[in-house]
Amino acid sequence: MNQAVLAIHGGAGAMARAEASDEARMAYETALAEILRSAGGILEQGGTALDAVTEAVRLLEECPLFNAGHGAVFTSDATHELDASVMDGSTLKSGAVAGLKTVRNPVLAARAVMEHSQHVMFVADGAEAFARAQGLECVAPDFFSTPLRREQLERVQQAQTGQMALDHDALASGAAGVPLSFSANAKASANPAANPAPLDEDRKLGTVGAVACDAHGNLAAATSTGGMTNKQPGRVGDSPIIGAGCYANNRTCAVSTTGTGEMFIRMVAAHDISARMEYTGASLEAAANAVVHEKLPQIDGRGGLVAVDAQGNVAMPFNTEGMYRGFIRVGQAPVVAIYA
Ligand code: ASP
Repeated sequence: MNQAVLAIHGGAGAMARAEASDEARMAYETALAEILRSAGGILEQGGTALDAVTEAVRLLEECPLFNAGHGAVFTSDATHELDASVMDGSTLKSGAVAGLKTVRNPVLAARAVMEHSQHVMFVADGAEAFARAQGLECVAPDFFSTPLRREQLERVQQAQTGQMALDHDALASGAAGVPLSFSANAKASANPAANPAPLDEDRKLGTVGAVACDAHGNLAAATSTGGMTNKQPGRVGDSPIIGAGCYANNRTCAVSTTGTGEMFIRMVAAHDISARMEYTGASLEAAANAVVHEKLPQIDGRGGLVAVDAQGNVAMPFNTEGMYRGFIRVGQAPVVAIYA
């Protein structure tokens, strides 16, 4: 049996089920399925897990529905700061970047750090310079901007609460938690300043990621994000932190997370799943569930993850209302879902 499998996520939280229009759901599900088919083709042709996760995250970065690359959220200065990471489970080599402003595909910069430097992580100006020297495509900073993300920033700043909002936040997404461009009752929910909606933890996360197991049992993981709407410039979450938002080890599993980044860093969430498998013999499912449903809630950590092991098992737990997610096995149709 070919155990090759690719799993992806487009952020935990998700639109409130009751508020999500069929049109909005379909837009997300179609995008996830297309990306799975396209990047999954790499595994079908005998390609590596590393290439499959890199391509899946690159495509998620290109899709404006998701908070990474084009479509990334804004900082409080109305700029974009992008973070990404990648890890190869066969060598434990990894690469990460944080605070990128002009590199079109941050995941490619992370991969270049892994393959063409002696280091694991570059940040800000140094990361930009490294990516340019590697010949990666750079764009004007407003390439990443979309009208929806600008509306989100304006709503959060007009509310004058001083808070940050993760993607799909009730403030960032309109009171109904639905991106306004997809909301059937957008006008009714568009003015939280006049009628402030409480932050709904179940609706406020976003990031993209991929994990894969190839035909040789090699594992890889990649994660990319714009971070949080109205985040303070310089803030870095878990997505580019190896062991927190991304981890891969052929002996155990590959993991990509999405959620309240600070909590995932404090729990070293992705590596904890690997450690449980390695030290206690826990199954992928048991280890992933323990971290998402037992450990993270201890410090109010909200979100989810996708994970695979070298036998091709897939786990996609989340402790929010939903998580944009899916997987594809070689020779089979993609499976996508948003809610439990
Ligand atoms: N984990 C990401 C961060 O903290 C955000 C997210 O997944 O929504 O930057």
